[in-house]
Amino acid sequence: MCSFVPRTLFQSIIDDETVSEEERQEAQHQIDVITRTLNAVENAASTESKVKARYDVIPTGFKEFRSKIWGMSGRNCEEINPETGEILGTSYKPLPGILYSSSQDPPYEQDQDVITCMEGLRTTYNFYKSVFNRESIDGNGLQLEASIHYATRYGNALWEPASKQMIFGDGDGNSRFGRFAGFFKPGSMVSSLDVIAHELTHGVTGHTANFEYKHQPGALNESMSDVFGSMVVQWKQGQTVDEADWLIGANIIYPNSESLTGRRSNAMCLRSLKDPSAITNLELQPNSMTSSRYYKGEDDNGGVHRNSGVPNFAFYKVAMALGGHSWDRAGKIWYETLTDSRMHPKTQFVEFARVTIDQAKTLYPDDLFVAQVVEEAWYDVGVL
Ligand SMILES: [Zn+2]
Repeated sequence: MCSFVPRTLFQSIIDDETVSEEERQEAQHQIDVITRTLNAVENAASTESKVKARYDVIPTGFKEFRSKIWGMSGRNCEEINPETGEILGTSYKPLPGILYSSSQDPPYEQDQDVITCMEGLRTTYNFYKSVFNRESIDGNGLQLEASIHYATRYGNALWEPASKQMIFGDGDGNSRFGRFAGFFKPGSMVSSLDVIAHELTHGVTGHTANFEYKHQPGALNESMSDVFGSMVVQWKQGQTVDEADWLIGANIIYPNSESLTGRRSNAMCLRSLKDPSAITNLELQPNSMTSSRYYKGEDDNGGVHRNSGVPNFAFYKVAMALGGHSWDRAGKIWYETLTDSRMHPKTQFVEFARVTIDQAKTLYPDDLFVAQVVEEAWYDVGVL
């Protein structure tokens, strides 16, 4: 299950001897909330019945955008001491929460997060439909659902595969429990198109290649979400590969953050496809298999948010070499590979790379330069 900001990133803050005690405490708080969120979601006794109740009434093969936004705001999410009325912290009620809005209803205008979330879901849907002729994330018109305002001071976003929905926290900066400014801008997760497209692409991957969420297949899973997440932003803004910033999570970071110290105070984004190991990324990734940053341990499911830098950089190189719009050729090669029947849950980088070369030849048989560019990119990042 993908947490947009992984626990290991907060752990690296705790392990950093230069950070303040406050910053360390806040990082620990975020780890605790992620852990509680993942446990609550995995253990939700209501999941099975909820899925049945929600999907029984939805016709499959529905050929237009459908979505529902749910919410878990305010007191609904607070754990209160019944005797004193004191707010103890966050409770994790069963999802999805209260229905705020659906795509069939008139626009709901009292909560900007509902509107921006719906727009993000719609843009991602339209991207997959118009670029790849894919009907929603399952290819069969699945209704896109999101629960927003989840928990308290949950500075994160999540794709929940069992009930096929997204979960958004509010960011941790606007908390009534706050003793600290927080790492991410309030409400920024739900208003960032790359975050939404990243999480929804986990759904696409789950319905296609279904890369298991650990080690190299897990890093491929993460990379698909970053690659298509970045492409959705570029497509929405009509950017060429030269105009795009190729950053993931740029809008969730405070510029010149005072709540992050040391090298992190210069962070511009969570990750970058253009330069995975840039010092301005919160997550320092390898840009090649030979990099000392290539992670071989077991944390974060075997470094899925770290080693995704390698296939991310390969995609960037292909897109830049081909020029124009990333989704035109590089994106098509990646999409055909993701949906290729040779993909399987334990796919390794090298298998994925070989199929991209094959797909480049199939898609562009009269222009072997394309396949050559793809092959060279994988050589450059040390996969081939
Ligand atoms: Zn992810």
